[in-house]
Amino acid sequence: MSQQVCTRCVLPDSFPRLTFDSRGVCSICREHDKWTAGWKSRLPEQGKILDKICTKVKNKHKEFDALVPYSGGKDSSFVLYTAKKELGLNCLAYTLDNGYLSEYAKSNIDKTCRKLGVEHIYYHFNPELMNRLYALFVRKTGYPCSACMRGIAVGTVKLADLYDIPLIVSGTSFRTELPLSREMIETGSLCHVRGVLKNEPISVECKRMLSSPSMKRKLGNMLFRLTGTKGPFTYALFNLSDYIDWNYNTIFETIRKELDWTAPEEAEHMDCLIHPIQKYIQIRRFPDLDMDRLRFARLIMAGQMTREEALHKLEKPITQCPESTLNLFLKDIEMSKEEFDKYIDMGPRHLQYDLPTIMEKIMRKVLPVSNAGKY
Ligand SMILES: [Zn+2]
Repeated sequence: MSQQVCTRCVLPDSFPRLTFDSRGVCSICREHDKWTAGWKSRLPEQGKILDKICTKVKNKHKEFDALVPYSGGKDSSFVLYTAKKELGLNCLAYTLDNGYLSEYAKSNIDKTCRKLGVEHIYYHFNPELMNRLYALFVRKTGYPCSACMRGIAVGTVKLADLYDIPLIVSGTSFRTELPLSREMIETGSLCHVRGVLKNEPISVECKRMLSSPSMKRKLGNMLFRLTGTKGPFTYALFNLSDYIDWNYNTIFETIRKELDWTAPEEAEHMDCLIHPIQKYIQIRRFPDLDMDRLRFARLIMAGQMTREEALHKLEKPITQCPESTLNLFLKDIEMSKEEFDKYIDMGPRHLQYDLPTIMEKIMRKVLPVSNAGKY
C-alpha cells in the first residue's frame, strides 16, 4: 500500500503525478477547489441562462426540443426527469444497447419513459461488429470501453441530425466525476477512435464509428460555446450539471421517489453488465486505486461525503469483477485470459492514437469548454 494518503480526500500517492502540500492535501483536491471556486454563488445566474436556452428552444416549435442520451443509470435518469418535468422540454430519449444492457437498466428505462411520457429509441449496433471492435480496442489500447463511448456519441449525432433536434443534453458533472489520470482511461473521442481504426481491415465496415455531426450543428455548437444565448442560437450540446446543483443525495431521492428508479445496492454503472471489466483493468493496473476509492475521493471534494464515511466504506474488501463476467466477455470477443491480461499490462497507448486533425486542434483552442469536439 502507498506511503501517504491525502488528509482531505482518500487518494494515495500512487495516483500518477500526485503531490501534497505542507498540510498533506493532494494536488487533485487543490485543483478541484480551483475549478469549483464560487460555483455555488454562480448557480442563480446559471439557472437564468438555462431558462433562456429552454425558452429559445421551445420557440422553435420543433418536433423535439431535446435529445437525451439515456443509459437508465442515475445521472441520465435525473437529466431526463429534469429536462422533461422541471424544464418542460419535449424530449426524445435514446439508449445505445451494446448487447450488455442489464435488466435493471431496461426496467428503469421502461418505467421512466412511461412515467414521464417520453418517446424513446433503442439503438442497436450489430453485436458481432461491437465484439470485433472490443477485441480490436483491447489489442491496440488495452481498454474496450472506447468502442461504446464512441458508439453512444455516434448514435447521438445521427439521431439529433435525423430529427433536427436543437438541444443535446447530457449529465456529466466535472465536480463529481471520478478523478482519472490519463493513464487510467482511453476516451471515445473521434481522433482517438480514428487513430485506432486506421489501417485496420475492418475500417470500412466501421466507417459509421467515425460519423460526426452535420456542419450546421458543429457551427451551431461552436457559436453556443462562444456566445451562449446572446448569439444566433441554433444548436447546443451541454451538460445539465453546468447549470444546476449536482448533488447525489438529491439525485437519488428524486429518481427513487419520482421515477421508482431501482439499482443493486452500491453498484455503480449498473446499466452495463460488463462494466466490471473496467474495474478489472483498473485494479490490475492500479491496485491501490480502485473505482470506489476514486469515487469516494471526488464525493469528499464535492462536499457530498465525509472522509470518515469513505474510510469506513473502504474497510470492506474491494469488490472484484466477477469471474463469470470476465469469462462471458472473453468468450464473446474470442480472446484468452492470458492474451487479455497481456494487453492490459502493456499500459495505455492513447498518445499513439490521439492524433487530432488540424481542424480539431483549432477547435480545441477556440472553444472554451473542455469537452469541445467530444462528438
Ligand atoms: Zn485529496
